[in-house]
Amino acid sequence: MSFQEVIGQEAAIAQLKNAFINKRTSHAYCFSGPQGVGKKKTALNFAKLLMCAHVQNTEPCDICSSCVKVNALNHPDVLVVAPEGQFIKIDSIREACRRLNLKGFESSKKILIISKAQSLNEESSNALLKTLEEPSADTVIILLTDALKSILPTIRSRCQRIVFQALPEGVLKKMLEAQFKLSDEEALYLVRISMGRLGVALKYHEARLFERKNKMLEDVLRPDYPLDKLLAIGSLERSEKNLKIDEILCVLSSWFRDLVLAKTAGPFKNFINVDRKDDIIMASRRYTLSEIEGCISAIADTAFENERNINWRISMANLRMELWK
Ligand SMILES: [Zn+2]
Repeated sequence: MSFQEVIGQEAAIAQLKNAFINKRTSHAYCFSGPQGVGKKKTALNFAKLLMCAHVQNTEPCDICSSCVKVNALNHPDVLVVAPEGQFIKIDSIREACRRLNLKGFESSKKILIISKAQSLNEESSNALLKTLEEPSADTVIILLTDALKSILPTIRSRCQRIVFQALPEGVLKKMLEAQFKLSDEEALYLVRISMGRLGVALKYHEARLFERKNKMLEDVLRPDYPLDKLLAIGSLERSEKNLKIDEILCVLSSWFRDLVLAKTAGPFKNFINVDRKDDIIMASRRYTLSEIEGCISAIADTAFENERNINWRISMANLRMELWK
């Protein structure tokens, strides 16, 4: 794993490498940008760079014991904290900060990476704040977030911000085509449904979403189709269930977004469902624009409820009622 595997984030990586060369690494960073564009991969590579025994041209060697351990996510001095459920627990932050204050096990540096830092609640933010206010020379804290504004300003202001971009459509499409044998339509679909986020595009490719999405749309848009069958999630764990519901909502939302485009955009309509152009135009005639917009906001509300683990049966049933009003 190297920085070269992170595509389209040259500016962010150059900023970090410059700081490293000039020995001006900040004690705290906030990597902000869409989900799935390489923030975590960059953070781990930066951790390797800071700890590598044989750095070559601002790239970690990838073979020294430190690099190998970071790659395997078992370096004792590189801590990764992520939310458990909705929030990052205060105990996880306290424990991580306690470990940051200890002497490094294998190197003088210690690195704490906080995934989905917007999930820090007030308690855990305050616990982190103490460490951010009294930084030790040997520690680097890296917050990763796709919702910068949800992080407390007192935390944000103590971190150097590194901005990650969504990838341009052409760049991501070429990458996917080079990596997998995809039809033009499938590559374009993955690029657009993932909104330029490589990690998300790869996830949807792996889940064969392009093959499945039309049947999914057909089912979910049929008012008499049984909910349980649609979701087939009876026995799934809550997190798997949420992912599955997210997927359905994403497919559904892409359809209604296309209907908006069919109604409003000029001759160049960048449909997500590129394989369904004629169907989209036909379907769009059955709705007014404000009806379509109502459907889109109902889908967004359902996604919000799903994130908060509100009873999915009720929220999906409400959604379908809304779609069939
Ligand atoms: Zn190394």
